[in-house]
Amino acid sequence: MVMDYSVLAGVYERLIANPSKLEKTAILAEFLSGAPASLLEILPHLITGDIFSEWDRELGVGPGLLYNAVAFVSGVSKRELENSIRVHGDTGLAVQEIFERKPQTTLFSEKLTVEGVYESFTKIAAASGKGAQNKKIKILSDLLSNATPVEAMYLVRTVLSELRIGVAEGLLRDAIASAFDVEKSVVERAIMLTNNMGLVAKTAYESGAEGLARLTVQVGRPLRPMLAQSMPSLEEAIKGAGRAAIEVKYDGARVQIHKKGGEIRIFSRRLEEVTNALPDVVSAAKKAITAGDVILDGETVAVDPVTRRPKPFQDILRRFRRKYGVEEKALEIPFETYIFDLLYADGELLIDETLEMRRKRLASIVKAETKKFMLADQLITNNLEEALSFYNRALEAGHEGVMVKNMDSTYVIGSRVGYMYKVKPIAETLDLVILGAVWGEGKRAGWLSSYYLGARDELGEFRYVGRVATGVTEQQLADYTELLRPYIEYTDGLEVRLMPKVVVEVGYQEIQKSPKYDSGFALRFPRVIRLRDDKSIEEVDTLERMEELYKKQGHPAS
Ligand code: AMP
Repeated sequence: MVMDYSVLAGVYERLIANPSKLEKTAILAEFLSGAPASLLEILPHLITGDIFSEWDRELGVGPGLLYNAVAFVSGVSKRELENSIRVHGDTGLAVQEIFERKPQTTLFSEKLTVEGVYESFTKIAAASGKGAQNKKIKILSDLLSNATPVEAMYLVRTVLSELRIGVAEGLLRDAIASAFDVEKSVVERAIMLTNNMGLVAKTAYESGAEGLARLTVQVGRPLRPMLAQSMPSLEEAIKGAGRAAIEVKYDGARVQIHKKGGEIRIFSRRLEEVTNALPDVVSAAKKAITAGDVILDGETVAVDPVTRRPKPFQDILRRFRRKYGVEEKALEIPFETYIFDLLYADGELLIDETLEMRRKRLASIVKAETKKFMLADQLITNNLEEALSFYNRALEAGHEGVMVKNMDSTYVIGSRVGYMYKVKPIAETLDLVILGAVWGEGKRAGWLSSYYLGARDELGEFRYVGRVATGVTEQQLADYTELLRPYIEYTDGLEVRLMPKVVVEVGYQEIQKSPKYDSGFALRFPRVIRLRDDKSIEEVDTLERMEELYKKQGHPAS
């Protein structure tokens, strides 16, 4: 059974018109329960706006390519299009208005269907090699030439990752539970273990709670890592953690290592596969892991080849992103990998076991014979003095701080539950997404040199919280500009608006309440600490966290 794309567009409209979470959930539940079964695998993607699961593929379309397609179909010049976007301040609305003004004259236009749209996205993602750009433009143009003005607006917004219908993953999860009459917790667990909303929706429809309970982890399909909470002091962390294990907090990049028989695959914190960029980690893992099939969680750190002291985070990113000259770079910037958790081993899912048990099992699986692949340093203690001396030793060795973990806790996938606290000397920072930037002048001409920052609201939409221009060296300005350039949506004077793609860690002196930005918050003296392109935009800090931090600063009344 087919579904017209206009039906989905109608649902988007209703979702935008109903800001209440409850109503949104009800609208989606009704929609999903009435949707053809064959569409249940793709609808969740089109609703959250994540066309593919994060570990899957990428669409690979930036504003530049999209505008070519819009210009081609509408007959409007790219320049006119960019002007219109500037006036509207929103690419989707600008395209809608252009399509209204310039009705399609295609003789053989066909109604867009949901399947057809998704298939086109799949083809766009698959286009590679010579001529890929042209292929992508052609497929997009075909889509747009069959779209009504409203459909064109939603297609454009989907492609730009700016659907703005206020549906975050949690809301969709609740809607799936309600549509197919299963417990939320069952849906949540199935999502955690499979990381595939489409599969979960389809299974919920076909075989309900029982079917969902049968879904499980697969070696080779990454899981979202458990996240840490900040604690201002070691003392509070130890109190909060119950029976505590203190571990070194290595300042590197999170890696999830999957071993199936003789094959090793490595995934980043964002669940992107990085196996090919890390041949040294792969071979060290092969030597050290004694079990057949496992999923390990750890941190890989760049070290100085001579002193073995940790090197800056930027060095790690250089290796993670690399496609060519991988082996040379591995010699220049060697990695050491520290494993701290075990999620799965030889047919057994271990996330519901205690950390104590998982670590014991881990010790029997990883034989740390080289300095390349080892277990994270750990001390089991609730004694503050012992913990402090461990903390100081970690800092002296050049590490970031310590993690304090509850020995009796399970592994909660993708969650920031209080089972693992980080303690470090640097004050709290925020991870924010860059939503816009300003072209520099004078010495900074040619560089995007000041950045508008956004945090997530409760519906998962981005809100402005400030602008930052300090903390970035000239070399970094050049790097950031290259990174951001493909995501420019439009330019207005010196200001540019960007697709929400790049995450930065930002320090500040104080969080303030201010009407200046649509979040209601502003940052006093913000400074960029570093790029966090190991984090996806789903991990951007929330306004809720900013409110908590604001209160901690001594504003309890608000
Ligand atoms: P943050 O990224 O600041 O929220 O800190 C949490 C991160 O610290 C984790 O995602 C890991 O990448 C990293 N990390 C370093 N050492 C450890 C450790 N021993 N246990 C858990 N996470 C660690």
